[in-house]
Amino acid sequence: MPSRLTFSSFAWDAWRAERRGYAAVMARQRARLGRLVRFARARSALYRELYQGMPLEIEHLGQLRPVTKQQLMARFDDWVTDPRVGRAGVEAFLADKTLVGQRYLGRYTVFTTSGSTGESGICVHDAEALTLYRALTLVRGWLPWMTPERLWPVLRQGARVAGVFATGDHYASSGMLDLARRRRPRPFNRVRVFSALSPLPELVQALNAFRPAELIAYPSALLLLAEEQEAGRLAIRPALVGSGGEWLDPTARRSIEATFGCRVRENYGVTEFGPLGWACREASLHVSADWAILEAVDEAYRPVPAGQASYTTLLTNLAIRVQPIIRYDLGDSVTVRPDGCRCGSPFPAVRVVGRREETLYFRTPSGGEVALLAIPLACVVYQTPGVRRCQVIQTGPAALRVRLEARSGADGQQTWEVAAGRLREYLTAHDLAHVGLEQAAEPPSPDPVSGKHRMVWSERG
Ligand SMILES: [Zn+2]
Repeated sequence: MPSRLTFSSFAWDAWRAERRGYAAVMARQRARLGRLVRFARARSALYRELYQGMPLEIEHLGQLRPVTKQQLMARFDDWVTDPRVGRAGVEAFLADKTLVGQRYLGRYTVFTTSGSTGESGICVHDAEALTLYRALTLVRGWLPWMTPERLWPVLRQGARVAGVFATGDHYASSGMLDLARRRRPRPFNRVRVFSALSPLPELVQALNAFRPAELIAYPSALLLLAEEQEAGRLAIRPALVGSGGEWLDPTARRSIEATFGCRVRENYGVTEFGPLGWACREASLHVSADWAILEAVDEAYRPVPAGQASYTTLLTNLAIRVQPIIRYDLGDSVTVRPDGCRCGSPFPAVRVVGRREETLYFRTPSGGEVALLAIPLACVVYQTPGVRRCQVIQTGPAALRVRLEARSGADGQQTWEVAAGRLREYLTAHDLAHVGLEQAAEPPSPDPVSGKHRMVWSERG
């Protein structure tokens, strides 16, 4: 970044851009993109090579070649713009878990993706980018929700924030919260991260003792905690619940809201940006287009029209300099909302359909292939009456295994039969009537590394 910007100047600019509307947001986006591309060409050997022969001033983003995680990771040392940052050094830093929460080279924050599927990624953020993320969190993720009736219960409970995430490694979700704790002024620095993998009774006890005014977690963890609250074991009174890191089913959102007696605010966070988007009061996710560009594209990276689910998305982070992220294949399938959101936000609204790597591919009897998106498939089972939790696992080219847990009071076998019937109907509609369905003996369980409760994945190898 050309000049050192402070938290308050970022926050002020973010607030003003949003108030001034679409034209002001796009003007900032254009100017920042121009500066970023010039910087990347001057300082990153990899981008210099990629953009060779391109005009000095680009007219639109589509002129620039997209990049993938594999490509960037393979050329890590050519990608970074600070010669002191190298892959070997960063990897040694990440391998040392005692350094979680510390700065790399005294100035950079490094996050890793859990890598439960595919290659794990490394994201180096500079201090200014992190300052921006914190400012965006305040202006877009917090202030719009702090209505007078919500602010009082927040302050009365010491403005304590509890995050329930995977801990113990250099993860973005817990890392960002930890950073907030150290940088926020009192009393807003009472932020604590609890491990999503700790035994439930322990977690409940710790949360009861902490009494958070704001609770932030993965949707699956929120659902578990909501049940604990219903049962009376958990007794907290959050004024706001934050959900992120996984897709949140609208029915689940409403049930969490009813249990805790407060609104659920969704956030679209990615390791490569941090808080990319926040839900408005209408529950639409708005992407901060003044600092990030999210392109919904097909397999050949061509734009996909609004209203249609994309194959993947390309992310451009207009804030980072140490590791420029320009038209980076994020792997998320999103749908851009075609109509304007009722809240009047100048930012585009998106719905995250799921991660591309979670798409399941089945072989058809004629030798062809059919792709099924993870979330719609999970919904078929999850939205069956009586289902409490479920996991759909692909075990072969034409085989699915389903882990199902029925709600208390529901007949387990009967719930399974209804769910299996719905699933069979769904598969038949996609020419996959031949796919075998197996009822798993074991109950659904969280991912042992991330603590997330993935609903769909493939183990077909
Ligand atoms: Zn909105």
